[in-house]
Amino acid sequence: SVLRNSIRHASSNVAAYNGKKNANGKYTVTMIEGDGIGVEISQAVKDIYAAAGVPIEWEPVDVTPIIKDGRTAIPDVAIESINRNLVALKGPLATPVGKGHVSLNLTLRRTFNLFANVRPCKSIEGCATAYDNVDTVLIRENTEGEYSGIEHVVVPGVVQSIKLITRPACERVIRYAFQYAQSIGKTRVLVVHKASIMKMSDGLFLKTAQDIAKEFPDIKLESEILDNTCLRMVTDPEPYKPVVMVMPNLYGDILSDMCSGLIGGLGLTPSGNMGDKVSIFEAVHGSAPDIAGKGLANPTALLLSSMMMLRHMKLNEYADKIESAILATLASGPANITRDLKGTASTKHYTEQVISRL
Ligand code: NAD
Repeated sequence: SVLRNSIRHASSNVAAYNGKKNANGKYTVTMIEGDGIGVEISQAVKDIYAAAGVPIEWEPVDVTPIIKDGRTAIPDVAIESINRNLVALKGPLATPVGKGHVSLNLTLRRTFNLFANVRPCKSIEGCATAYDNVDTVLIRENTEGEYSGIEHVVVPGVVQSIKLITRPACERVIRYAFQYAQSIGKTRVLVVHKASIMKMSDGLFLKTAQDIAKEFPDIKLESEILDNTCLRMVTDPEPYKPVVMVMPNLYGDILSDMCSGLIGGLGLTPSGNMGDKVSIFEAVHGSAPDIAGKGLANPTALLLSSMMMLRHMKLNEYADKIESAILATLASGPANITRDLKGTASTKHYTEQVISRL
Protein backbone atom coordinates (compact mmCIF):
# COMPACT_ATOMS: atom_id res chain seq x y z
CA SER A 1 0.00 0.00 0.00
CA VAL A 2 0.98 3.63 -0.32
CA LEU A 3 1.62 3.82 3.42
CA ARG A 4 4.03 0.93 3.33
CA ASN A 5 6.24 2.92 1.02
CA SER A 6 9.37 4.16 2.63
CA ILE A 7 9.11 7.16 4.88
CA ARG A 8 12.64 7.97 3.84
CA HIS A 9 13.85 11.50 3.67
CA ALA A 10 16.95 12.49 1.80
CA SER A 11 19.40 14.85 3.36
CA SER A 12 20.22 18.12 1.70
CA ASN A 13 23.69 18.93 0.49
CA VAL A 14 24.13 21.31 3.42
CA ALA A 15 26.01 19.62 6.26
CA ALA A 16 27.00 16.73 4.02
CA TYR A 17 28.58 13.94 6.03
CA ASN A 18 32.25 13.30 5.31
CA GLY A 19 33.13 10.97 8.18
CA LYS A 20 35.79 8.30 7.73
CA LYS A 21 35.76 4.66 8.78
CA ASN A 22 37.71 3.80 11.94
CA ALA A 23 40.47 1.18 12.27
CA ASN A 24 37.80 -1.55 12.54
CA GLY A 25 36.31 -0.53 9.20
CA LYS A 26 33.25 1.01 10.87
CA TYR A 27 31.89 4.50 11.44
CA THR A 28 31.98 5.76 15.01
CA VAL A 29 28.82 7.55 16.10
CA THR A 30 28.36 9.40 19.39
CA MET A 31 25.48 8.02 21.47
CA ILE A 32 23.77 10.13 24.11
CA GLU A 33 21.33 7.74 25.75
CA GLY A 34 19.47 10.48 27.60
CA ASP A 35 17.10 10.49 30.57
CA GLY A 36 13.92 8.60 31.44
CA ILE A 37 12.96 6.23 28.62
CA GLY A 38 16.20 7.19 26.83
CA VAL A 39 18.03 4.15 28.17
CA GLU A 40 15.32 1.72 27.00
CA ILE A 41 14.85 3.15 23.53
CA SER A 42 18.63 3.50 22.94
CA GLN A 43 19.02 -0.18 23.83
CA ALA A 44 16.39 -1.05 21.22
CA VAL A 45 18.38 0.86 18.57
CA LYS A 46 21.62 -0.85 19.59
CA ASP A 47 20.04 -4.32 19.50
CA ILE A 48 18.44 -3.77 16.09
CA TYR A 49 21.63 -2.28 14.59
CA ALA A 50 23.70 -5.19 15.87
CA ALA A 51 21.22 -7.67 14.36
CA ALA A 52 21.17 -5.78 11.04
CA GLY A 53 24.98 -5.68 10.86
CA VAL A 54 25.11 -1.88 10.52
CA PRO A 55 28.79 -0.83 10.26
CA ILE A 56 28.56 1.57 13.20
CA GLU A 57 30.37 1.56 16.53
CA TRP A 58 28.63 3.57 19.23
CA GLU A 59 30.67 5.94 21.40
CA PRO A 60 28.58 6.57 24.52
CA VAL A 61 29.04 9.97 26.17
CA ASP A 62 27.77 11.47 29.39
CA VAL A 63 26.30 14.95 29.00
CA THR A 64 25.57 15.65 32.67
CA PRO A 65 25.83 19.46 32.61
CA ILE A 66 28.74 21.36 34.06
CA ILE A 67 28.86 25.05 34.90
CA LYS A 68 31.57 26.90 32.98
CA ASP A 69 32.06 30.66 33.36
CA GLY A 70 28.69 30.79 35.13
CA ARG A 71 26.83 29.14 32.25
CA THR A 72 25.52 25.61 31.66
CA ALA A 73 27.93 23.73 29.42
CA ILE A 74 28.33 20.29 27.91
CA PRO A 75 31.35 18.35 29.25
CA ASP A 76 34.38 18.71 26.94
CA VAL A 77 34.65 14.97 26.40
CA ALA A 78 31.14 14.94 24.87
CA ILE A 79 31.89 17.95 22.66
CA GLU A 80 35.13 16.38 21.45
CA SER A 81 33.34 13.11 20.65
CA ILE A 82 30.65 14.84 18.57
CA ASN A 83 33.18 17.06 16.79
CA ARG A 84 35.29 14.01 15.95
CA ASN A 85 32.43 11.75 14.81
CA LEU A 86 30.35 14.49 13.10
CA VAL A 87 27.11 12.64 13.89
CA ALA A 88 25.35 11.78 17.13
CA LEU A 89 22.19 9.91 18.06
CA LYS A 90 20.58 11.39 21.11
CA GLY A 91 17.90 10.25 23.54
CA PRO A 92 15.70 12.79 25.35
CA LEU A 93 17.20 15.05 28.01
CA ALA A 94 14.95 16.29 30.82
CA THR A 95 14.89 20.02 31.58
CA PRO A 96 13.89 21.42 35.00
CA VAL A 97 10.81 23.67 34.71
CA GLY A 98 11.07 27.31 35.83
CA LYS A 99 14.41 26.83 37.66
CA GLY A 100 17.72 24.98 37.50
CA HIS A 101 20.09 24.59 34.56
CA VAL A 102 19.16 25.80 31.08
CA SER A 103 18.02 23.14 28.62
CA LEU A 104 20.85 20.85 27.55
CA ASN A 105 18.99 20.33 24.30
CA LEU A 106 19.29 24.07 23.64
CA THR A 107 22.91 24.05 24.77
CA LEU A 108 23.73 21.25 22.30
CA ARG A 109 21.98 23.06 19.46
CA ARG A 110 23.87 26.27 20.27
CA THR A 111 27.23 24.60 20.89
CA PHE A 112 27.20 22.94 17.45
CA ASN A 113 25.20 25.63 15.66
CA LEU A 114 22.52 23.15 14.62
CA PHE A 115 20.44 25.69 12.79
CA ALA A 116 17.76 23.55 11.14
CA ASN A 117 15.56 21.03 12.91
CA VAL A 118 14.00 18.75 10.30
CA ARG A 119 10.83 16.96 11.42
CA PRO A 120 9.20 14.68 8.84
CA CYS A 121 5.68 13.52 9.68
CA LYS A 122 4.09 10.73 7.69
CA SER A 123 1.15 8.38 8.33
CA ILE A 124 2.18 4.80 9.03
CA GLU A 125 0.04 1.73 8.36
CA GLY A 126 -1.08 0.00 11.56
CA CYS A 127 -0.98 3.16 13.69
CA ALA A 128 -4.57 4.18 14.29
CA THR A 129 -5.40 7.88 13.87
CA ALA A 130 -8.11 10.01 12.33
CA TYR A 131 -6.04 10.30 9.14
CA ASP A 132 -4.00 8.03 6.92
CA ASN A 133 -2.81 10.71 4.48
CA VAL A 134 -0.36 12.84 6.46
CA ASP A 135 2.93 13.34 4.63
CA THR A 136 4.65 16.61 5.34
CA VAL A 137 7.97 17.96 6.57
CA LEU A 138 8.35 20.69 9.14
CA ILE A 139 11.63 22.60 9.44
CA ARG A 140 12.07 24.57 12.61
CA GLU A 141 14.58 27.40 13.05
CA ASN A 142 16.63 25.95 15.87
CA THR A 143 18.82 28.66 17.39
CA GLU A 144 16.88 31.81 18.26
CA GLY A 145 13.34 33.25 18.45
CA GLU A 146 11.78 32.84 21.91
CA TYR A 147 14.50 30.27 22.65
CA SER A 148 17.32 32.81 22.67
CA GLY A 149 17.24 32.61 26.49
CA ILE A 150 17.34 36.39 26.98
CA GLU A 151 15.04 36.99 29.92
CA HIS A 152 15.12 39.50 32.76
CA VAL A 153 13.00 41.02 35.48
CA VAL A 154 12.23 44.64 34.61
CA VAL A 155 10.67 45.44 38.00
CA PRO A 156 9.12 42.92 40.42
CA GLY A 157 6.08 41.40 38.73
CA VAL A 158 7.23 42.39 35.24
CA VAL A 159 9.40 40.06 33.19
CA GLN A 160 10.70 40.54 29.68
CA SER A 161 11.64 37.67 27.34
CA ILE A 162 13.30 38.66 24.10
CA LYS A 163 12.27 37.06 20.82
CA LEU A 164 15.41 37.43 18.77
CA ILE A 165 15.23 37.10 14.98
CA THR A 166 18.29 37.77 12.81
CA ARG A 167 18.56 37.90 9.05
CA PRO A 168 21.51 35.42 8.86
CA ALA A 169 19.64 32.79 10.93
CA CYS A 170 16.52 33.26 8.79
CA GLU A 171 18.55 32.97 5.59
CA ARG A 172 20.31 29.74 6.45
CA VAL A 173 17.24 27.85 7.68
CA ILE A 174 15.04 29.07 4.82
CA ARG A 175 17.69 28.24 2.21
CA TYR A 176 18.03 24.83 3.84
CA ALA A 177 14.24 24.33 3.57
CA PHE A 178 14.34 25.08 -0.17
CA GLN A 179 17.28 22.73 -0.71
CA TYR A 180 15.58 20.04 1.34
CA ALA A 181 12.35 20.40 -0.65
CA GLN A 182 14.34 20.01 -3.87
CA SER A 183 16.18 16.96 -2.56
CA ILE A 184 12.96 15.06 -1.71
CA GLY A 185 10.93 16.20 -4.71
CA LYS A 186 8.50 18.53 -2.90
CA THR A 187 7.31 21.48 -4.94
CA ARG A 188 6.33 24.05 -2.35
CA VAL A 189 7.91 25.77 0.65
CA LEU A 190 5.38 27.12 3.12
CA VAL A 191 6.47 29.79 5.61
CA VAL A 192 4.35 29.59 8.76
CA HIS A 193 4.36 32.87 10.72
CA LYS A 194 2.48 35.49 12.74
CA ALA A 195 3.71 38.51 10.84
CA SER A 196 0.20 39.93 11.21
CA ILE A 197 1.01 40.58 14.89
CA MET A 198 4.82 40.39 15.13
CA LYS A 199 5.26 42.61 12.13
CA MET A 200 8.99 43.20 12.61
CA SER A 201 10.34 39.84 13.82
CA ASP A 202 8.13 37.45 11.85
CA GLY A 203 8.03 40.10 9.15
CA LEU A 204 11.80 39.71 8.78
CA PHE A 205 11.45 35.93 8.57
CA LEU A 206 8.81 36.26 5.84
CA LYS A 207 10.69 38.94 3.88
CA THR A 208 13.85 36.81 3.98
CA ALA A 209 11.88 33.86 2.58
CA GLN A 210 10.65 36.05 -0.29
CA ASP A 211 14.25 37.02 -1.08
CA ILE A 212 15.64 33.46 -0.82
CA ALA A 213 12.81 32.12 -3.01
CA LYS A 214 14.35 33.98 -5.99
CA GLU A 215 17.28 31.50 -5.80
CA PHE A 216 14.85 28.59 -6.34
CA PRO A 217 12.61 29.33 -9.33
CA ASP A 218 11.31 25.72 -9.47
CA ILE A 219 9.92 25.78 -5.93
CA LYS A 220 6.82 27.79 -5.12
CA LEU A 221 6.89 29.92 -1.96
CA GLU A 222 3.69 30.17 0.03
CA SER A 223 2.95 31.66 3.43
CA GLU A 224 0.30 31.07 6.02
CA ILE A 225 -0.55 32.36 9.49
CA LEU A 226 0.19 29.81 12.22
CA ASP A 227 -3.33 29.52 13.65
CA ASN A 228 -4.73 29.04 10.17
CA THR A 229 -2.19 26.27 9.51
CA CYS A 230 -3.27 24.47 12.71
CA LEU A 231 -6.94 24.68 11.78
CA ARG A 232 -6.44 23.63 8.16
CA MET A 233 -4.13 20.79 8.99
CA VAL A 234 -6.36 19.14 11.60
CA THR A 235 -9.28 19.57 9.20
CA ASP A 236 -7.53 18.07 6.17
CA PRO A 237 -3.79 17.26 5.98
CA GLU A 238 -3.95 16.44 2.24
CA PRO A 239 -2.98 19.92 0.91
CA TYR A 240 0.24 19.78 2.97
CA LYS A 241 1.60 16.77 1.09
CA PRO A 242 3.69 18.65 -1.52
CA VAL A 243 4.92 21.01 1.18
CA VAL A 244 8.03 21.60 3.26
CA MET A 245 7.05 23.98 6.05
CA VAL A 246 9.61 26.35 7.59
CA MET A 247 9.03 28.54 10.61
CA PRO A 248 10.50 30.33 13.64
CA ASN A 249 11.59 28.18 16.57
CA LEU A 250 8.63 28.17 18.97
CA TYR A 251 6.01 27.64 16.27
CA GLY A 252 7.94 24.62 15.01
CA ASP A 253 8.13 23.16 18.50
CA ILE A 254 4.37 23.33 18.96
CA LEU A 255 3.18 22.60 15.42
CA SER A 256 5.37 19.49 15.17
CA ASP A 257 3.76 17.97 18.27
CA MET A 258 0.38 18.67 16.69
CA CYS A 259 1.54 16.91 13.53
CA SER A 260 2.71 13.96 15.68
CA GLY A 261 -0.82 13.74 17.06
CA LEU A 262 -2.17 13.46 13.51
CA ILE A 263 -0.15 10.30 12.84
CA GLY A 264 -0.50 8.46 16.15
CA GLY A 265 1.58 10.30 18.69
CA LEU A 266 5.05 11.22 19.81
CA GLY A 267 6.26 7.63 19.70
CA LEU A 268 6.48 7.90 15.90
CA THR A 269 8.07 11.22 14.94
CA PRO A 270 11.80 11.54 14.20
CA SER A 271 13.99 14.58 13.76
CA GLY A 272 17.43 15.72 12.69
CA ASN A 273 19.27 18.79 14.02
CA MET A 274 21.41 19.88 11.08
CA GLY A 275 24.44 22.14 11.25
CA ASP A 276 27.26 23.14 8.93
CA LYS A 277 29.59 20.55 10.37
CA VAL A 278 27.84 18.14 12.72
CA SER A 279 24.30 16.76 12.92
CA ILE A 280 22.45 15.33 15.92
CA PHE A 281 19.46 13.06 15.39
CA GLU A 282 16.79 12.64 18.07
CA ALA A 283 13.12 11.81 18.57
CA VAL A 284 10.71 14.73 18.83
CA HIS A 285 9.46 13.45 22.20
CA GLY A 286 10.90 13.96 25.71
CA SER A 287 12.00 11.64 28.50
CA ALA A 288 8.42 10.42 29.26
CA PRO A 289 8.94 10.20 33.04
CA ASP A 290 5.45 8.71 33.47
CA ILE A 291 6.47 5.45 31.75
CA ALA A 292 10.26 5.43 32.28
CA GLY A 293 11.77 2.16 33.48
CA LYS A 294 8.56 0.19 32.86
CA GLY A 295 9.48 -1.37 29.54
CA LEU A 296 6.56 0.38 27.80
CA ALA A 297 8.34 2.99 25.68
CA ASN A 298 7.94 3.02 21.93
CA PRO A 299 11.43 3.18 20.38
CA THR A 300 10.11 3.91 16.85
CA ALA A 301 10.71 7.67 16.92
CA LEU A 302 14.36 7.24 17.91
CA LEU A 303 14.73 4.41 15.42
CA LEU A 304 13.31 6.54 12.60
CA SER A 305 15.59 9.40 13.68
CA SER A 306 18.47 6.97 13.30
CA MET A 307 17.19 6.12 9.79
CA MET A 308 17.55 9.82 8.94
CA MET A 309 21.06 9.57 10.35
CA LEU A 310 21.94 6.50 8.27
CA ARG A 311 20.75 8.22 5.09
CA HIS A 312 22.68 11.34 6.03
CA MET A 313 25.74 9.05 6.32
CA LYS A 314 24.87 7.49 2.93
CA LEU A 315 24.26 4.08 4.55
CA ASN A 316 20.96 3.84 2.69
CA GLU A 317 20.89 0.07 2.26
CA TYR A 318 20.87 -0.44 6.04
CA ALA A 319 18.28 2.30 6.48
CA ASP A 320 16.02 0.67 3.89
CA LYS A 321 16.38 -2.76 5.48
CA ILE A 322 15.66 -1.61 9.05
CA GLU A 323 12.87 0.73 8.01
CA SER A 324 11.10 -2.07 6.11
CA ALA A 325 11.28 -4.24 9.24
CA ILE A 326 9.91 -1.39 11.39
CA LEU A 327 7.01 -0.68 9.02
CA ALA A 328 6.18 -4.39 8.70
CA THR A 329 6.17 -4.76 12.49
CA LEU A 330 3.95 -1.70 13.00
CA ALA A 331 1.49 -3.11 10.45
CA SER A 332 1.43 -6.58 12.02
CA GLY A 333 -1.21 -5.95 14.67
CA PRO A 334 -1.74 -4.85 18.29
CA ALA A 335 0.25 -7.73 19.83
CA ASN A 336 3.44 -6.35 18.29
CA ILE A 337 3.02 -2.60 18.86
CA THR A 338 3.40 -0.59 22.05
CA ARG A 339 0.62 0.82 24.25
CA ASP A 340 0.87 4.39 23.00
CA LEU A 341 -0.29 2.95 19.65
CA LYS A 342 -3.12 0.96 21.30
CA GLY A 343 -1.07 -2.23 21.26
CA THR A 344 0.07 -4.52 24.04
CA ALA A 345 3.77 -5.09 23.26
CA SER A 346 6.64 -4.18 25.59
CA THR A 347 9.66 -2.29 24.24
CA LYS A 348 11.57 -5.58 24.25
CA HIS A 349 8.88 -7.57 22.41
CA TYR A 350 8.57 -4.86 19.75
CA THR A 351 12.36 -4.81 19.34
CA GLU A 352 12.45 -8.59 18.90
CA GLN A 353 9.67 -8.38 16.33
CA VAL A 354 11.61 -5.81 14.30
CA ILE A 355 14.72 -8.00 14.47
CA SER A 356 12.74 -11.04 13.30
CA ARG A 357 11.70 -9.10 10.15
CA LEU A 358 15.14 -7.83 9.15
P1 NAD B 1 7.25 13.78 26.73
O1 NAD B 1 7.40 13.82 25.25
O2 NAD B 1 8.37 13.21 27.51
O3 NAD B 1 5.92 12.97 27.09
C1 NAD B 1 4.62 13.39 26.67
C2 NAD B 1 3.67 12.16 26.68
O4 NAD B 1 4.00 11.32 25.57
C3 NAD B 1 3.80 11.29 27.93
O5 NAD B 1 2.53 10.78 28.26
C4 NAD B 1 4.72 10.16 27.49
O6 NAD B 1 4.52 8.95 28.19
C5 NAD B 1 4.36 10.01 26.01
N1 NAD B 1 5.51 9.55 25.22
C6 NAD B 1 6.55 10.32 24.79
N2 NAD B 1 7.42 9.58 24.12
C7 NAD B 1 6.95 8.31 24.12
C8 NAD B 1 7.42 7.07 23.60
N3 NAD B 1 8.58 6.98 22.92
N4 NAD B 1 6.69 5.96 23.80
C9 NAD B 1 5.53 6.02 24.46
N5 NAD B 1 5.01 7.15 24.98
C10 NAD B 1 5.72 8.29 24.81
O7 NAD B 1 6.96 15.28 27.20
P2 NAD B 1 7.00 15.92 28.67
O8 NAD B 1 6.40 14.95 29.67
O9 NAD B 1 6.39 17.25 28.51
O10 NAD B 1 8.54 16.13 28.99
C11 NAD B 1 9.30 15.27 29.84
C12 NAD B 1 10.73 15.79 29.89
O11 NAD B 1 11.35 15.67 28.60
C13 NAD B 1 10.86 17.25 30.29
O12 NAD B 1 11.95 17.39 31.19
C14 NAD B 1 11.17 17.97 28.98
O13 NAD B 1 11.94 19.12 29.17
C15 NAD B 1 11.98 16.90 28.25
N6 NAD B 1 11.94 17.03 26.77
C16 NAD B 1 13.11 16.77 26.13
C17 NAD B 1 13.14 16.81 24.74
C18 NAD B 1 14.43 16.50 24.05
O14 NAD B 1 15.33 15.91 24.63
N7 NAD B 1 14.59 16.88 22.79
C19 NAD B 1 11.97 17.09 24.01
C20 NAD B 1 10.79 17.34 24.71
C21 NAD B 1 10.78 17.31 26.10
